[in-house]
Amino acid sequence: MRYICIKCDVIWIIGEPGAELSGGLCDRCITQYVREKQKRQGFDDCFRKATEICSKIECSYWEHCMPAYTNYAEGGKKG
Ligand SMILES: [Zn+2]
Repeated sequence: MRYICIKCDVIWIIGEPGAELSGGLCDRCITQYVREKQKRQGFDDCFRKATEICSKIECSYWEHCMPAYTNYAEGGKKG
């Protein structure tokens, strides 16, 4: 599937590139968006800045912030 960012028009492909184009936010725009939200809520804008596993597992952005470690958090049940 091909995706187009509704904010900056960048196009990316996940899996097989098909003719269909789906709208969404690209990684860069998601990161910006979440960091702004964190700052507004009075938290550190730490989204995707962590260099190792973040200890704030209760954070609502944790899974998106740490996609490489999602398996770890779920006990490795995914693929
Ligand atoms: Zn974008």
